[in-house]
Amino acid sequence: MTQQGYADFERAVAEFFQREGLNSISVGRLACPSCGADGKEWRDHWFQKGTCPDCGARREEWEGPRFSWWPCDVCGSHRGGNRSTCIGHNPTTHEVQGEYEVCDDCLCYVEYGRLDDQTVAAMG
Ligand SMILES: [Zn+2]
Ligand SMILES: [Zn+2]
Repeated sequence: MTQQGYADFERAVAEFFQREGLNSISVGRLACPSCGADGKEWRDHWFQKGTCPDCGARREEWEGPRFSWWPCDVCGSHRGGNRSTCIGHNPTTHEVQGEYEVCDDCLCYVEYGRLDDQTVAAMG
């Protein structure tokens, strides 16, 4: 990634948050990818216990990270790499939105407000 690439990346991420009306995203799911169960109680169980209370699907198998060529929903990157399934919180509607397939760069950026040192160093 170049300096220009970094600027483009930051803009793409900012645009995503604006477009979706979100203030944060984190790894998670809106509904069970295996049996379709959903709702707040389901999400709490999924998040805290790491399994679906209805069918026993395991969080780690369904949220990733897993390798994909699918473009990242946040920055639009087409580079092959890890994608994790994320949901976001909309502070205006108080709704949970998603799901988004998100690359490692975006997860790091969202969590720490910057890219990791290795990625930045590679920008030259
Ligand atoms: Zn389930
Ligand atoms: Zn991304």
